[in-house]
Amino acid sequence: MARRFHRLLAVCAIGLALGATAATDGQSPQKPRTPADDGFTDTPMLPGLPWHVHDPARPHPPVVTPGATPGGSPSDATVLFNGRDLSQWAHRDRDGKLVASTWTVRDGYFETGKGSLHTRASFGDVQLHVEFATPAIVSGNSQGRGNSGVFLMGLYEIQVLDSYNNRTYADGQAGAIYGQWPPLANVARPPGEWQTYDIVFEAPRFENGKLVTPAFQTVIWNGVIVHNRKAAMGSTVYRNVAQYGKPHAAELPLMIQDHDNPVRYRNIWIRRLGGYDQPEKK
Ligand code: MG
Repeated sequence: MARRFHRLLAVCAIGLALGATAATDGQSPQKPRTPADDGFTDTPMLPGLPWHVHDPARPHPPVVTPGATPGGSPSDATVLFNGRDLSQWAHRDRDGKLVASTWTVRDGYFETGKGSLHTRASFGDVQLHVEFATPAIVSGNSQGRGNSGVFLMGLYEIQVLDSYNNRTYADGQAGAIYGQWPPLANVARPPGEWQTYDIVFEAPRFENGKLVTPAFQTVIWNGVIVHNRKAAMGSTVYRNVAQYGKPHAAELPLMIQDHDNPVRYRNIWIRRLGGYDQPEKK
C-alpha cells in the first residue's frame, strides 16, 4: 500500500513538473515575467554580429498582419491590383512617356491587351504575389497559347504560359526563367483556372560599372517551389544568351507582358524586402 502511495506521489510530481514546463513557454499568464524572459547578456557573442545569443537589445522585427485569407496581402504590402482599377500601372508610349492603361478590368480581374503594362512605382528586392489564368478556351500551341510574363524590374521574366498539356521548349514553359532555366516541376493547372506565383527576387548589384552579384529568383508556383534562389544569367532575351550588359538602377518598374494572348490577372501585391536587425520604429 505504502509503495503504491509513493508511486502515486511520483506520478503527481512528474505531472507538476510537466505543468511547470508548460508555464515557461512565454505564453502562459500564470507566471510573472522575469528578466531572463527578455534575454541574456552573459551568453557568447554571435560570430560576426554585435549581438549576444538571446540578446535583449537585439531589435525586434516589425509586426506584420498577414492577409485575411491565404494569398491575401499582408499589412505592409503595396497592393498593385485590388480587383478594381489599374491606376498603379501604365503603358509606355514611343517616347517612354507613361500613359494610362487601356487593358480591360472586370469582375475583379484584368486581362492583357495591347502593349505591356509597367508599374508606376519602381522596385528592387521584393516578394511578389501574382494570380493569373490562361484562357479557358484553348487556342494556339507552344509559345502561342496563354503567353504573358512577369518581368521583375521590367527585365527578368518569369514566363506565364498555358503549360497544361502544351509542349514547348523547356526553358520557355510556364514558370521558366525564360531562355535560361526551366522550372523544377510543371505545376500547371488546366486552362482557365486561377494559378499563383509567389516570387522572391533579389536585384543584381553593380559596382564601378561591373556586375558584382547577379539577380536571384525564387519562385513558388501553385504552392510548389520551382526555382530555389536561382541566379539569372542576365536580362531576358529571345534566341540568344542572356547577359547583364550595362548597369541599371537599383529599382525599376515591374512589367506584365502583352504577348497577344488574353491572359487574366488578379490579386497582385508586392513587398520590399528589408534586411535583418533593422532599428525598431517607435
Ligand atoms: Mg512571355
